[in-house]
Amino acid sequence: MNEDDAALLEGLFKRYYFENVGRIHVPHKMGRREFGYQRFNGGMNRHLAMRDDGALRVMLVSNSPSDVYCSNAYYSFPDLPMNEKDWKGADLIFDIDAKDLNLECRAGHTVYRCSDCMAVSRDASACRACGSARLDSKSVACRDCIDASKKEVRKLEDILVRDFGIPEGSIRVYFSGNEGFHVHAYAPHFEQLNSRERGELVDYIRFNGAVPERFGMTRRQPKRDLQKTLPELGDAGWAGRVAKGIFVNKTGRKRFISQIDGDAYDSYQRSLREIAGTIGARIDPQVTTDVHRIFRMPDSLNGKSGMAKVPCGDLDSFDPHVDACVLDDGPVTVTARCPVAFRLKGHAFGPYDSEQVTVPGYAAAYMLCKGLATSSGA
Ligand SMILES: [Zn+2]
Ligand SMILES: [Zn+2]
Repeated sequence: MNEDDAALLEGLFKRYYFENVGRIHVPHKMGRREFGYQRFNGGMNRHLAMRDDGALRVMLVSNSPSDVYCSNAYYSFPDLPMNEKDWKGADLIFDIDAKDLNLECRAGHTVYRCSDCMAVSRDASACRACGSARLDSKSVACRDCIDASKKEVRKLEDILVRDFGIPEGSIRVYFSGNEGFHVHAYAPHFEQLNSRERGELVDYIRFNGAVPERFGMTRRQPKRDLQKTLPELGDAGWAGRVAKGIFVNKTGRKRFISQIDGDAYDSYQRSLREIAGTIGARIDPQVTTDVHRIFRMPDSLNGKSGMAKVPCGDLDSFDPHVDACVLDDGPVTVTARCPVAFRLKGHAFGPYDSEQVTVPGYAAAYMLCKGLATSSGA
C-alpha cells in the first residue's frame, strides 16, 4: 500500500479508536494475556502486556493499528518470549470463514489485483493490463457468504451447548470484520486442554472420521436388527444429527432399511462421509488447535476491510455490512478500481472503472483496505 493510502486509513482508524474508546470490549483476565498489533505497511509487534484498559486505549489511539490481536491463552508473564511465558490455560476459539466454504457465489464477487501494475479485473488467469500472472484475489461483501457462514455458527453453537455442556451465556459470537465469524467459548473445564486434545474436539465438531460401527451398523449386521441399531431422529448428539442428515424423517428411515442390500455397509459409510460437510461445523482446525495464537481482538478494526470485529447479538438479524461498518461516514475522495458492485450500510457502491469517486469514509476505507482504490491521483 502506498504511504498516502496508509496515512488516510490511519486517520480514519485513529478517529474510530479515539471516539469509541469507551466501547472497546476489554478482555477478561486482560493482564495475563499477550497482545499484538500491526500498523499499515508495518510488521507485527507482539509479546506485549497491557496492565489495564487505560494502557490498551493509549496503545490504540497512539498507534492507530491496522489490526489488533489478543491471546486466547493466559500466562504468568505474557510479555516474555514464548518459552518463558508460563502458559496457564486458554479459552476455546473458533474461526468460520466464508472463503473456506467453497460457495458457488464466490466467483461472482472475487476480483484480482495485479501485484505489478495494480490493475484490477475479474480475470483470474493474468492481468489484462500488463499480462502479469502475479495476481492477488480480493473478495467483496456478499450476503450469501454471510448467510452460509451463519449456518455454520449455529451448528457449532448447537454442538458446544448440547454435546459439550457449555452454557449459552459463556459463548460469544463475533463477526470477524471481513468474511466470517469468530466464536469464543469461556468454559473452565476446557481451558487446560492442549493442542492435541483440541484437535480431537475439532474432529468431533467437523464430524471427521465417522465409521458405520459408531452409528449402528457393522459389516455382518443382520438386516432385521437395523430397525433397532440405526440412529433415531430424536437421539441426542451425533446419532440424531446423522439420522436427520441421512434419513431426513421417519419414513426415510424405514425406506433406507427396506432398500438395504448386499453392500449396505459401504453405502452407509459413503453417506456418513457425504453428510460430514452438512452436519459437521466447518471450523478452521488451525485456529482452534493453536494454544499460543493471538486472535483478532473484539471491537477492533480489521485492516483487510475497515469493518470491525463486533459481537453479533441476535445472529438472525445481524447484518455485518451494516452493523460492522463503524467508520466515519464523512465524504472521502478516492480513485476506485472495483469491477464488482457491493453494498455497505444500505448503500450500493460500484462497479468503478478507475474513476474518481467521493464516497462515505467507511466505503473508501473498505476499498483502500482491499487495494481496490487509491487516494493518489484523486
Ligand atoms: Zn498488471
Ligand atoms: Zn458469496
